[in-house]
Amino acid sequence: MSRIVIVGGGIVGLSIARAALKAGQEVVLLEQGPVGNPNGASYDNHRMIRYHYGAAEGYTRMVTDAFAAWARVWDDLGETHHDTTGAISIGLAEDDYAGKTLATFRNNGIPHEILDGAEIAALCPHLKVPGGAWGLLSRVGGPLYANRIVDGLARWNREHGADIRDNTKVARVDLEAVTATLDNGELVKGDHLVVAAGAWLPSLLPDLYANLTTYRQALCYVEPPVQFAESWRRAPSIVTIGDGVGYTLPDLRGAGLKFGAGSHRRLGAPSAGFQSDIAEADYIIGQFAPYLHDAASYRPLRMKVGYYVMDATRKFRLDSHGRSLVVTNCDGQMFKFGPLLGEAIVDMFEGRLSPKALSSWAAGDAAIAPKAAVNA
Ligand SMILES: Cc1cc2nc3c(=O)[nH]c(=O)nc-3n(C[C@H](O)[C@H](O)[C@H](O)COP(=O)(O)OP(=O)(O)OC[C@H]3O[C@@H](n4cnc5c(N)ncnc54)[C@H](O)[C@@H]3O)c2cc1C
Repeated sequence: MSRIVIVGGGIVGLSIARAALKAGQEVVLLEQGPVGNPNGASYDNHRMIRYHYGAAEGYTRMVTDAFAAWARVWDDLGETHHDTTGAISIGLAEDDYAGKTLATFRNNGIPHEILDGAEIAALCPHLKVPGGAWGLLSRVGGPLYANRIVDGLARWNREHGADIRDNTKVARVDLEAVTATLDNGELVKGDHLVVAAGAWLPSLLPDLYANLTTYRQALCYVEPPVQFAESWRRAPSIVTIGDGVGYTLPDLRGAGLKFGAGSHRRLGAPSAGFQSDIAEADYIIGQFAPYLHDAASYRPLRMKVGYYVMDATRKFRLDSHGRSLVVTNCDGQMFKFGPLLGEAIVDMFEGRLSPKALSSWAAGDAAIAPKAAVNA
């Protein structure tokens, strides 16, 4: 039996813990806040899973494996924290995100439907559909209820013997020595060490990761006009309108209708805090306004701020350092892949997958699923 020490109790750390426990490993997970930490990127009412990935073929293909990994999570937890609303990208120009995604769907045999403006309006009566707009609909995809998942995984890991330590800040890690030193000076040693510290990584490992770019993103919970409350619940989740207007997640299971806008992302680090102001909500709703009927009646309820590491490649990074692994560049994208990555990382620790194959698959560069990549 190996001992795996994990720094960070977000979706990545908790998913690795679950996969390690299922493989018979001993798990110690160290989290600076509570597990789940409301300031972590993983902790919000919902995150989206969908096939739409623009021209990124590797990540599009990984979504099928991600759904299979989520099914295994639901089996373990005894409940499904996901609803299948379907997901839609609305194309406004020939070569925008929907167009790129359509080419990827066709190359990879992803089932989809192409909708004209009238068909979009029938599915989404709350939307004012511009002339010439078209929709790329996938009938699968929708919200993953993120905070319930994090809480459920934390509970499952504890019940299966993991040593999950809340309010336990790691002051430094030594990747070569496979150790984490806590704030109080205690040394925690493993046979393997994983750093899954999200946007806190540059401050935890400045020698290696000070140059990462961290971003602040804020999402807006909104109350729609009463006549559209039900249609927003029944409509597909919106992945994009055009090339960056925004995305939406529905008010199902009491999660609240949420709007996000990629253009609202700013450079920033968790040390700047988690507060927000109402001008941000106005900006986000304003991005959607040209595409909403009765836009003036949308009321902001609250903002939710999160941070993540991202760079221009938009590729996840899994860096092996001997018996240690650092997970980074989680981007605004890794939640959906958390359980799948957790399983693949444990496969690597157990020798069923080489570090090189793991990192190239996680970067979306490999055509092969991880199990087929043993010793590549
Ligand atoms: C606003 C927003 C919207 C997003 N939308 C989506 C989406 O729709 N779909 C999708 O798939 N993904 C989405 N993402 C991305 C996804 O949420 C993240 O990629 C994912 O949650 C990252 O998980 P993580 O476990 O790596 O990081 P986190 O959840 O941030 O967890 C890292 C944990 O490490 C802990 N930690 C850090 N330093 C230390 C230390 N020194 N000692 C102990 N503990 C430490 C932190 O407290 C934190 O709890 C979104 C992200 C944000 C912010």
